[in-house]
Amino acid sequence: MEELRCKLLILGAGPGGYVCAIRAGQLGIDTVLVESENHGGTCLNVGCIPSKAMIHAAEKFHELTSAAVGGDPLGLSATAAAIDFSKTQTWKNGVVTRLTKGVTGLLKKAGVRTLLGRAQFLDGKGVEVTVDGTTTRVRAEHMVIATGARPTELSMLPFDGPVISSTEALALDQVPGRLVVIGAGYIGLELGMAYAKLGSHVTVVEAADQILPAYHKDLVAPVAKRMQALGIETRLSCKAQGLTADGAGLTVEDASGTAEIQADKILVAVGRTPISREAGLERLALDYDGDFIRIDDTCLTSMRGVYAIGDVTGEPMLAHRAMAQGEMVAEIIGSHTRVWDRYCIPAVCFTDPEIVTAGLSETEAKAQGHEIKTGRFPLLANGQSLAHGREDGFVRVIARADNGLILGLEAVGQNISELSSAFALAIENALRLEDVAGTIHAHPTRGEAVHEAMLDALGHTLHI
Ligand code: FAD
Ligand code: FAD
Repeated sequence: MEELRCKLLILGAGPGGYVCAIRAGQLGIDTVLVESENHGGTCLNVGCIPSKAMIHAAEKFHELTSAAVGGDPLGLSATAAAIDFSKTQTWKNGVVTRLTKGVTGLLKKAGVRTLLGRAQFLDGKGVEVTVDGTTTRVRAEHMVIATGARPTELSMLPFDGPVISSTEALALDQVPGRLVVIGAGYIGLELGMAYAKLGSHVTVVEAADQILPAYHKDLVAPVAKRMQALGIETRLSCKAQGLTADGAGLTVEDASGTAEIQADKILVAVGRTPISREAGLERLALDYDGDFIRIDDTCLTSMRGVYAIGDVTGEPMLAHRAMAQGEMVAEIIGSHTRVWDRYCIPAVCFTDPEIVTAGLSETEAKAQGHEIKTGRFPLLANGQSLAHGREDGFVRVIARADNGLILGLEAVGQNISELSSAFALAIENALRLEDVAGTIHAHPTRGEAVHEAMLDALGHTLHI
């Protein structure tokens, strides 16, 4: 058995783990990073990046098919639309490979030692990794658990055959004729809408009484309308029960009784389960919140010298949260004074149209005892939205009534995700309505709708 010693040992090379390793390397910390699959984790390999590539390809194809059908208001027409889906997959895989290879290069540049194999936790100071029959024991002063999460399985619908998770949904070799999506969370809807644009007949089954149940109804309404326009069937307050007797569909139950939906593929997207109680992790004396590893405001677990970051530590399970935690923990180990500041973690749903939220919603602000005022600007009065042929959506600001401090910003609209940085900057820097209202916003951009939402809260919009 080989023995490796280091100051910092990181388990998992997703956005949490690889960012932690790069920053640690920059700080001159002797670091070993262990990954069982591929550098980049869920996000780069089977999550954020391939899903956005798929969404982009689907939108392009949908534009083509719409032009081929005729009646395009811009005057575009095409004789026929076709897609070579295997080529689409090759292109998407190329995007993933470029990024994951880039991460490997960055780790090398930062002087991080990497091991590609599954870590078996021994205790709070070390792991064993077996690569090509050779076992290496790695011992460290500090350890960071960044093992992420995997798709949640439904006991009555285990992943097998036609029942797939987001991972398989991103790697299909052909577009399924009939796709049933269980769970109208962001993952189910992003992929469901993409496949509808690629030509699948899509049915979404959701146990709650609205799609994207975590969001305010009016943010979700433009997405529901678009789903309808794309021919997606939505069954709300409806629970998946299991495969039909012949295995060719899904049995569901709602208030009217049970029904069967025929399907070629059934995508189960009912959340993600942290990888927190396996590979020997269960032997460590860690405290948990449910299945998530409990951490303090420095991402330290209940064990001295053992940190945890990313999806394994709880909601919101987002790549940029994992990265921010990874960077912070590396700096703490490098003797910087840092604390985990979760004041504003923006979130984007890459549905069509997109939804972006940052800071507090109206309900959350009121629940925290704030007296608030809000401002809202519809995209139908925004020049760029009209010029791009999409006027559905709006921008809303939630601010303190007494001093105009911006508490939250939210929006729904095509390509509106790009506003997330402006939203986060405004909230993180404690700007007031007047600060943003007094900032000149370039014309014609969707950003102007942010300016106008501020003016609305101040009582004097200009363009409506
Ligand atoms: P992960 O990325 O899950 O990485 C953990 C790594 O640890 C994995 O590579 C795993 O192989 C490795 N590992 C686990 N156990 C061991 C072990 N014992 N030994 C060695 N290695 C191990 N987030 C966004 O912010 N924006 C999006 O648009 C977005 N879209 C998504 C779309 C989909 C379809 C999915 C599934 C997720 C999406 N996410 C998105 C969520 C995002 O991918 C995760 O929040 C992010 O990857 C979490 O990073 P992490 O480092 O905590 O874990
Ligand atoms: P989820 O969003 O959990 O959605 C799964 C859906 O499946 C649920 O609506 C559920 O009702 C339904 N369902 C479950 N079982 C069945 C069944 N048998 N039949 C039918 N339907 C069923 N986390 C938070 O805690 N708060 C947030 O505000 C939040 N906001 C986020 C915003 C964005 C943009 C993103 C990317 C993530 C956010 N998250 C939030 C984190 C998110 O909840 C996790 O990343 C989650 O794992 C997302 O996975 P999902 O889309 O598969 O599942």
